Amino acid sequence: MVLAQLGGSITRALQQMSNATIIDEKVLNDCLNEITRALLQSDVQFKLVRDMQTNIKKIVNLDDLAAGHNKRKIIQQAVFNELCQILDPGKPAFTPKKGKTSVVMFVGLQGSGKTTTCTKYAFHHQKKGYKPALVCADTFRAGAFDQLKQNATKAKIPFYGSYTESDPVRIAVEGVERFKKENCDLIIVDTSGRHKQEVALFEEMRQVSEATKPDLVIFVMDSSIGQAAFDQAQAFKQSVPVGAVIVTKMDGHAKGGGALSAVAATKSPVIFIGTGEHMDEFEVFDVKPFVSRLLG
Ligand code: GDP
Repeated sequence: MVLAQLGGSITRALQQMSNATIIDEKVLNDCLNEITRALLQSDVQFKLVRDMQTNIKKIVNLDDLAAGHNKRKIIQQAVFNELCQILDPGKPAFTPKKGKTSVVMFVGLQGSGKTTTCTKYAFHHQKKGYKPALVCADTFRAGAFDQLKQNATKAKIPFYGSYTESDPVRIAVEGVERFKKENCDLIIVDTSGRHKQEVALFEEMRQVSEATKPDLVIFVMDSSIGQAAFDQAQAFKQSVPVGAVIVTKMDGHAKGGGALSAVAATKSPVIFIGTGEHMDEFEVFDVKPFVSRLLG
């Protein structure tokens, strides 16, 4: 890892420490405090930052720092490794298999980018030879079905929904059944969102999940929600078995530190990031570049 990968304020903090003639606990603490500030500004949850700080102090040996010429490198590596560690929940997400039916349910608040991400996810797999299909079980937002229909048509992906049926569970079940019969191997269920976390929303998610028995539930999170990420992700996880996270709008200003909270709250990995409004603005999540951006 090169120094250039680390962001401005962190680099400055390490530089200052490196310039100090004596590396004592105070110098290390000052440096870690500076790094903490930068991470909080990137929306990393306070508790995660504090735990990381404690771990680094345990790992970094002051004697090594005082003796060696690689003070910066030692701290830099420790910070980088700790953040990568937080993003690794220890088990990979379920991956759909070609030719075998998988049901993937998307959950997230309204405006998080859920519907857009469903199509991106379908499109991504279609390009890899899967046979995806989209089911619109969002009966709450007017226009949700039209939006999904439009996206699906553009990508030539079969879709299912209703303008008249108001029961999302029924639509979800009918859609899944239909596409199972049509031998689709990746059936994606888009669900309702609300502007905020509400009991009714979580109850609906629980019912759709119980009825469709998804192989994977993906929590979609807007990268700009900041410190709200942990509670939001946790609330969904308490209602449905979230198994993966997708962070959207990474093309904006947000550094995406909320992703660490979502991973911590759901104990699930981030699998993709959204980087724009278009269908192909979607990337497989890669820990290292993400952590570098976070530190910037
Ligand atoms: P939903 O209510 O969660 O289904 O959200 P939508 O899919 O309707 O998305 C809300 C808005 O966010 C739309 O204007 C999308 O075009 C936009 N959007 C979704 N993902 C991204 C992304 O990765 N980057 C950007 N810039 N906009 C996005």
